[in-house]
Amino acid sequence: MSPQRPALHQPVRSRHARSARQVMPTDQLPEGARSKDARARVSMRPKRRGKAPAHMVDLTMEARKQALKEMGIPGFRADQLSRQYFTHFEANPELMSDIPQQLRAPLREGFLPQLVEHVTTQKADGGYTLKHLWSLFDGARVESVLMRYPKRTTLCISSQAGCGMGCPFCATGQMGLTRNLSAAEILEQVRLAAKACERGDLAGGATRLTNVVFMGMGEPLANFGALKNVLKGLIEEPPNGFGLSARNVTVSTVGLVPGIKKLAALGYPVTLAVSLHAPDDELRDPLIPINSRWKVGELLDAAREYFVKTGRRVSIEYALIRDMNDHPWRAQLLADQLNARGHGWAHVNPIPLNPTPGSIWTASTRAAQEEFVSVLRGAGISTTIRDTRGSDIDGACGQLATKVAKEEEKTHD
Ligand code: SF4
Repeated sequence: MSPQRPALHQPVRSRHARSARQVMPTDQLPEGARSKDARARVSMRPKRRGKAPAHMVDLTMEARKQALKEMGIPGFRADQLSRQYFTHFEANPELMSDIPQQLRAPLREGFLPQLVEHVTTQKADGGYTLKHLWSLFDGARVESVLMRYPKRTTLCISSQAGCGMGCPFCATGQMGLTRNLSAAEILEQVRLAAKACERGDLAGGATRLTNVVFMGMGEPLANFGALKNVLKGLIEEPPNGFGLSARNVTVSTVGLVPGIKKLAALGYPVTLAVSLHAPDDELRDPLIPINSRWKVGELLDAAREYFVKTGRRVSIEYALIRDMNDHPWRAQLLADQLNARGHGWAHVNPIPLNPTPGSIWTASTRAAQEEFVSVLRGAGISTTIRDTRGSDIDGACGQLATKVAKEEEKTHD
């Protein structure tokens, strides 16, 4: 028997009355707005058509061998070069002592071109967090963030330059989508982070990269072709990939339902994180503009289906924003929506924001946070408040948490 679904738009129970105060995302211009008529909206069309030069890790092993043969280089070098890349985190043939001198320059030019150039690195959290800014072949810039925790080291990566999802709290969203990154441009962020870990760039000395989250710039499911190859490169064992555990890879989405279905069909048991931030369409439509295409109910159905197909519990990310989405009735509605689809399939991560005076994107009061969590737990929903560690972006699509953290940094300058 199918479970009874609560109707959307309406609090299911009356035990948590609607608060009088309701701040809406439209009460302020979108972040980074250039004119007072700016609106939060989705734009899927990239501004640039250019593609990054083809790179070894864009190709399957068979295609690598074929490409080398076409360059007059024996196919067995594909295995050797792939091991250099995925095991020793080395991508420059000039620095590979097992590659004959005369092959190094042609390989650098035609097979392993430099795709990513380091611009700058910022340290945070006493050196336990490193934010790297990279410049790509066409001058587009993306950021990746490496964070060391007691039991894991996590890299947050960007999947697109700019983003077409138009979330009003995110300046990246107002820039629109510049272009999709290639699989190799994304894997390069991972390789360089793995090398930084090995070199001991993070406080605490040399370590190993254990986790990767797609929570940086861009919506990974809107760049599905590259995402598919990147997952392969992350999860498969060397020489085909870095050999990370699929359980330690998280793909975050604001709600591209067809993409969630395609991800489930790939069969990699990666964690799906849904940046929900509101359980009702009335608020989620202006908060996450793609919601006007795929509503909360449809999104949660797809998330539940993902759990059924992969056995992986889904993370529901929920940034608590004062008087916007932190009402007890919304916690109850969220719990009802999740429970209506079964028990134990989702875990909610409320993310406390930092206070940003004068902005609508500001922290809930401590009391509101506590009540929100207690309503969820009281309804049997497993819930963990994220420790956002100042600059930590491991938890949302990233941009909401970082944006507010950055605002706070500015006020402290
Ligand atoms: S919050 Fe994420 S999905 Fe939304 S516009 Fe920013 S980068 Fe894109």
